[in-house]
Amino acid sequence: MQYAPVIRVSALPAIEVPAGDIAEADRPVEAGRFAAAATEVATRLRARAAHATGAASEVLAATAALAQDRAWLGAADKRIAAGAPAVRAVTEAVEQFVEMFTQLGGLMAERVTDLRDIRDRVVAELCGLPEPGVPLPDIPSILCAEDLAPADTAGLDPQLVVGLVTTLGGPTSHTAIIARQLGIPCVVAVSGLDAVAVGTMVLLDGTAGTVTADPDASEAAEAVAAAQRDARAARQWAGPGATADGHAVAILANVQDGAAARTARETPAEGVGLFRTELCFLNRDTEPTVDEQAKIYGEVLEAFAGHKVVVRTLDAGSDKPLKFAGHPDEANPALGVRGIRIAEGNPGLLDRQLESIAAAARQTGTAPWVMAPMIATAAEAKSFAAKARSHGLTPGVMIEVPAAALLADKILEHVEFLSIGTNDLAQYTMAADRMSADLAALTDPWQPAVLTLVAITARAGAAVGKPVGVCGEAAADPLLACVLTGLGVSSLSAASAAVNGVGAKLSQVTLQQCRDAADAVLATASAADARAAALAVLG
Ligand code: PEP
Ligand code: MG
Repeated sequence: MQYAPVIRVSALPAIEVPAGDIAEADRPVEAGRFAAAATEVATRLRARAAHATGAASEVLAATAALAQDRAWLGAADKRIAAGAPAVRAVTEAVEQFVEMFTQLGGLMAERVTDLRDIRDRVVAELCGLPEPGVPLPDIPSILCAEDLAPADTAGLDPQLVVGLVTTLGGPTSHTAIIARQLGIPCVVAVSGLDAVAVGTMVLLDGTAGTVTADPDASEAAEAVAAAQRDARAARQWAGPGATADGHAVAILANVQDGAAARTARETPAEGVGLFRTELCFLNRDTEPTVDEQAKIYGEVLEAFAGHKVVVRTLDAGSDKPLKFAGHPDEANPALGVRGIRIAEGNPGLLDRQLESIAAAARQTGTAPWVMAPMIATAAEAKSFAAKARSHGLTPGVMIEVPAAALLADKILEHVEFLSIGTNDLAQYTMAADRMSADLAALTDPWQPAVLTLVAITARAGAAVGKPVGVCGEAAADPLLACVLTGLGVSSLSAASAAVNGVGAKLSQVTLQQCRDAADAVLATASAADARAAALAVLG
């Protein structure tokens, strides 16, 4: 909960682009000016990357690399050589690539935001204007924007930008995920934001996903004080995860590399419930070798030596394409060859990854569990489990497809554990793109249909005594985490920043309260009613 004034991203002012061409003799100087501007922008982004850590650093480094990408730099150079002033050349070259990415389909959408971001920075540099983007406020403020480039989100200072509100983006878009990792309360897909002037006081409730402009000042202060009390309790919570009456629920962390795992180790997280390995390789053109992979995986195992670590095999495709995973050209990538389905056409990729995980386990002395993403059938689970066991690894699968939730009992005949990915489970249950701002209400994990599938899965696990965890964003919501516990899940894995809040809330309620809340939620017919029903039982 935050109560603070609004700031906005400064846009590039309208710039007069000279219509005429420049003289031939001046073109080399113009080309030099352009190269220097692009280099300056990349250098600044790299410097910010060096100051950031984990995913934030990677996103900034990736954007810096895009600023130096030969393809669009070459396209702009060509235009300058033909007489275009640098500003026009940059604008046209970027638009050419934006069009190309847009035609390639939704999964390149975030690259488009990045490219336009770089265009504006380079144009500002060429015109001697201040760099567009996020302002540095003097006092803690709430940043309102249509959307943020991942690089801008990654570079936010959580001391000064204490909240983030966007008109676009879904709850599981990368902007939201990075903000959560930085511990910045974030509400996405908010309409009516444009009417809120800079400096207006707003009350932002990141948990309930609400933003109130100009609220009653004393009520807002009271709400903030209550939230601060909760935050203090959260900071004091030291684990391990359990309800007030001692029912154990492991509280784990979601990580994407060694740096994130080391950050997670500083929280009371008892292990890693989801290591998103594909995020280590988003910028790679070629498949990393077994040795390279083993070293990267080993960093995470070392950070949690002797603890539970669940490594997910590459979940490539859709919103996370990997250049070396050979994605086919598809009209609908979210329903296409992604996750485990890639193994069908490229079994070597999965085998080499399992070999790398096994090597990391040998080298570090910590044996992880492994799980496959996007499992839809028991046969896929069986085949994955056989491969994992042949490498001496303990196999499980993610439940992200409604078909897999409905047949969780059949899948459990082949694997040792299940982990429910509520982000994709909501997307596929509700037939709503998780990246779409317009459909954010449908992809809300409080949707009773989604929670019914969680209940079916948890019951299947309990029937055979095998663990069923949740590792989607649902596990990061303290109230929902209690409901998931009541539904019978045995572990909750969330971004490091959410670990304390979830653990603290769970420690304040009894298992019976969690079960009562779960029953109440399953009796509702809307996400709003489900949340209200849980709140009534759990406070
Ligand atoms: C999920 O789908 O809930 C999940 C944890 O996987 P990802 O968000 O990486 O798709
Ligand atoms: Mg998923």
